[in-house]
Amino acid sequence: MTSSSCLRAWPLWPALKSLPSPVIRSLTLIAALVLTPAFSWTTPAANATVLFDEGKRALEVDISELFPEQSRVQISRWIEHLAHSLTLVYGHWPRERWAIDVEPVSGSIDDPIPWAQVHREKIDRVAFYVLSSVSADTLKHEWTGYHEVAHLLLPYRGWGDTWFSEGLASYYQNLLQARVGVLSEEQMWQKLYDGFARGKADDRFDGQTLLLVNQQMREKGGYMRVYWSGAWYFFAADISLRAQSNGAYSLDNALKQLNSCCAAQSLSVAEIIAHLDASTDQKMFSELYQRVYQSRKMPPYASLFAQLGIEIKNGQVSLVADGANARRRREFLSSTAL
Ligand SMILES: [Zn+2]
Repeated sequence: MTSSSCLRAWPLWPALKSLPSPVIRSLTLIAALVLTPAFSWTTPAANATVLFDEGKRALEVDISELFPEQSRVQISRWIEHLAHSLTLVYGHWPRERWAIDVEPVSGSIDDPIPWAQVHREKIDRVAFYVLSSVSADTLKHEWTGYHEVAHLLLPYRGWGDTWFSEGLASYYQNLLQARVGVLSEEQMWQKLYDGFARGKADDRFDGQTLLLVNQQMREKGGYMRVYWSGAWYFFAADISLRAQSNGAYSLDNALKQLNSCCAAQSLSVAEIIAHLDASTDQKMFSELYQRVYQSRKMPPYASLFAQLGIEIKNGQVSLVADGANARRRREFLSSTAL
């Protein structure tokens, strides 16, 4: 089965027909990366380098040799950093084996990663199209990388329920950046707030259910409402799990359990939610699901921030320093599943 999800260049949807032309794959190993011993069960492309997480899960990295040598070194550093960030949810990568391809593309320096896509194929593969001569540090500060790898946290390989898969990625891209140290706590909450505000401002289809807006999104738009309603779902679920367990259990744990049972499967959103509810022995995920997919505008988020000691003044977050809410808020900065 071949399927894909997440087209990073969603604002450019009408231009998707002009995909980057196929390019020649890298033919050289990148010495800066950890090289693989031979594995009997895996046959990486001859030109790929393989990284391992602490559990010996394998990531095949294929950086096009069309990049100058120095760019390949910078990109390989970025990929190592990105792959590490993904271990900050439940300690290991979501699959025993996955892949990242990086190809060169031209574009504006303001957008160093103008194109990216997740392919859920025989193995999960993330394809990045990156400008040449961009430093590792610049790439580390681009949200796109974190967003794409966060997609792999769900065993969802279908089409249609964009709000769910994009919501998870839009939420976790911010947590990953803070956990790996490229966003401060305040910056993380500001970016989440800004996202929800963009979802609320994308009000052209208010009055229509999220389900309908999602179905019509690629023809009519409403991307921000769809993406950030989905992020709201996971944010609300995360707060609920943490509140019920007094901080001992969170969405990190629920995703870890989902990965343990079902990583290799291709589950529908309904099946994923059923698993999440079963693993947490409650109906919270399905109840929130009913609420969000029937929502007729961006769900309210001010009360969620208030529960975490986050005040909003003129669109800017202000973090309360002390108290139980502030302690709960800081717990988001590290995984509860490690
Ligand atoms: Zn995405």
